[in-house]
Amino acid sequence: METDVRRNPALLKLDLYCRGIRLDDSCFIESDGGRPLLRTRAGLGSGLELVLPGGLWTNVPVAEKFAAASPYVLHRDNGTYVIRRHGERGPATGLAAASGDIVRVELAPRPGWYDRETASHKPMTRIGTLQGTYLGVYPAKVCDYWREAPKANCKFCSVGLNLGVDDATDKSVDEVMEVIRAARAESHITYVDFNTGHYCGDTYLDILEPYIRRIKEETGLLVGIQTPPHHDLKRYDALRDLGVNRVSFCFEIFDEEIFKRICPGKAREYGLRRYLDAVAYCARLGLETSGGFKPWVSNGEIIAGIEPPASSIAAIDWITSAGAIPTVCVFRPLVGTEMEDEPPPNTADLVPVFRRLYEACMERRLPIGVAPNVHVSLVLLPEECRWFLDNPRRYWRQELRLKLLSAAFRLTFGRELRRRARAAA
Ligand code: SF4
Repeated sequence: METDVRRNPALLKLDLYCRGIRLDDSCFIESDGGRPLLRTRAGLGSGLELVLPGGLWTNVPVAEKFAAASPYVLHRDNGTYVIRRHGERGPATGLAAASGDIVRVELAPRPGWYDRETASHKPMTRIGTLQGTYLGVYPAKVCDYWREAPKANCKFCSVGLNLGVDDATDKSVDEVMEVIRAARAESHITYVDFNTGHYCGDTYLDILEPYIRRIKEETGLLVGIQTPPHHDLKRYDALRDLGVNRVSFCFEIFDEEIFKRICPGKAREYGLRRYLDAVAYCARLGLETSGGFKPWVSNGEIIAGIEPPASSIAAIDWITSAGAIPTVCVFRPLVGTEMEDEPPPNTADLVPVFRRLYEACMERRLPIGVAPNVHVSLVLLPEECRWFLDNPRRYWRQELRLKLLSAAFRLTFGRELRRRARAAA
C-alpha cells in the first residue's frame, strides 16, 4: 500500500478524519465559494467540506479539540487551497510523515440555494444540506432518546445539540420538495438520504413515507432512509415497492457489551439482534426480482474507532456475509457530546479495517460504487478503500463487472429521470 498521503488520497482522507485540520488565517472559505461549517450532520460530523485529489469528497474535523493539535493546516495560496503539514503535533500514526505542501484541494462548492429561503421563509439549509454530492434531510423532531430523563442517547451523538440550531425541527413535504428541486437543478443531485432517530411507537417509517412518495412520483431520484429497525419487517417490502433504494441500519458497534454502554437507548428498545435481523432481511429482499427499475441495497452502519479494530472487521465480515454493504464511519469526538474528551482513533489502526471493507465487498460481489454522482463526504466509500490494498489488481475481474454494471445503471437511471420529468411537466 502507498503510505505517503501525498500519493494516496484515501489514506489522506482517513488521516484527516483522525487528526482534523487547522485553518490558517489566510483562508476565506465562504467568500471563496466554500460551504459553511454546519453542525448538523446527523450527529456525526461538523467539519469543512473539501474535495481531495482523485475526486474524494470529505468532511474534515475543524471544531473538535483534537483538530487544534493537527499537523495539517489549510492555507489559501494565490486564490487556491493547499494542505500543508507542519511537523508532527498530534499522536504518531506509524505512517510516512511528509511535511510541507501535501496536496492542493478544492473547497466543496456552496450552491446558490444555500443562501436562499423556501417560500415559507425558512433558510433552505435548515431543510436539507449537501453531504458531499447528495442531499441529506433529517425531517422530524429530535430523537426521543434525547428527551428522556435521564437521557438515553448514544454517547457520541450530537443530534440533540444540533436541532434548532442549524436544522429546522418541522419540515413539510412541500418544503422538502422545494429544496430537492433546487438541489437537483443547481447541484445535480441524484440521491436523497433521510435520517431519523428513534420515535416512541416506531413512527419513523410513517413519517418518511409521504416524503418518499412525492420524491419518487415527481423526480425519480434515488432515495435512501436511515432509521431504527422497524419491528414489522414486512414494512420494508412495502418501502421497496414504494421505490426506496437504500435502507441503512446504524447499529454502530458490533461488540454487544460496548454497544450497550455507548448506545443505551438502542440496546433497550431494539437490541443488537434486531438491527442485525433487519440488515439481513433487507439484504434478502434485494435478491428478489421485481418489475421495473427498482435498485435496492441494505446497509449496516458502524463506527470504527470506538471498539477494537478486530471487532469492526468482524462486523464488516458479518454484514457482507448477509449480502449487505457496510457503511463505516470514523469516530469523531464531537464538541458538546459525552465523548468529546475521548481521543480520536489512530489512523494506522483503522487502515486494516478499511482494507477489509474493500476486500469483503469484492469477495461477496456486492454492488459498490454503482449509483452515479454519489460522492460521500462523511465516510470512506467502500470503492475508495481500494487505495488500501497491497495488490490493487487483485480483484480486476470483479472491478470490470462493476464498471459494466455502473454503465448499465447510469443509462437506465437517466431514462427513468427523463420519464419522471416528462410526467411531472
Ligand atoms: S438513535 Fe442514537 S445516534 Fe441516532 S439520533 Fe438517536 S441518539 Fe443520535
